[in-house]
Amino acid sequence: MEKVLLITGSSRGIGAATALLAAEQGYRICINYLSDHQAAERVCAHIRKLGAQVMAVQADVSDEDEIIGLFARIDAELGPVTALVNNAGTVAEVSRVEEMSEFRMLRMMKTNVVGPMLCAKHALLRMSPRHGGKGGSIVNVSSVAARLGASGEYVDYAASKGALDTFTLGLAREVAGEGIRVNAVRPGYIFTDFHALSGDPHRVSKLEPGIPMGRGGCAEEVAEAIIWLLSAKASYATGTFIDLGGGR
Ligand code: NAP
Repeated sequence: MEKVLLITGSSRGIGAATALLAAEQGYRICINYLSDHQAAERVCAHIRKLGAQVMAVQADVSDEDEIIGLFARIDAELGPVTALVNNAGTVAEVSRVEEMSEFRMLRMMKTNVVGPMLCAKHALLRMSPRHGGKGGSIVNVSSVAARLGASGEYVDYAASKGALDTFTLGLAREVAGEGIRVNAVRPGYIFTDFHALSGDPHRVSKLEPGIPMGRGGCAEEVAEAIIWLLSAKASYATGTFIDLGGGR
């Protein structure tokens, strides 16, 4: 079976690191991004050097029309998706709940929960034997915040990842008999540009003393777990979570 992989939000950070590892595993890869076309093209150029087929598609995963267009382009250029990493996510400035606007909460839920659910829906339409597919694998990128709650930081973000965990478990059981596995990784503090969104790009370095391992994680350390869960090596794993939080 051809392996066709969509990684949402893969122009940088954990998504880009996962794409580079996937290139060595024989996947045809779609790099998805929201706005930074040049960053996406840089990842594509790197992947082409590794000999893998790759394309970059701009699409906002919080909008179903854009997701439909994204999957249609992949169908046409790489073939139907057999593997999906729901990685795109967002966070907002560190705040208490009473300071959070409705706009912020809805944006968080649309990007971090509704988006992955819609991407899974359109992947299932290609993976499930009910729709002519031959199975597949989905990995959702959650967060240790789903377990810890992120009090005083961004409880809305933690709640969105908690919802993603519940979706992972439910969907895994729903499609387990159709040759489709659904799992998740829960990273802790990882060195990426993500933290600039919370108001402090140096957040991970500052918080390192509170991490049991005494250091933040690298995107590649998360990518390794994602690639394993996607692969046939994880053939009996579904509805499971790998925490990559340095002990948090
Ligand atoms: P990042 O470096 O900020 O990268 C985010 C990626 O997502 C970018 O490619 C961005 O595209 C894309 N993106 C954002 N919103 C999007 C949307 N609506 N539609 C499509 N693409 C979108 O983030 P990261 O640290 O790698 O995080 C990836 C995932 O890991 C997220 O789900 C995050 O919640 C989770 N996570 C991260 C950490 C951490 O410490 N970094 C910890 C736990 C969980 P553009 O560049 O074009 O905007």
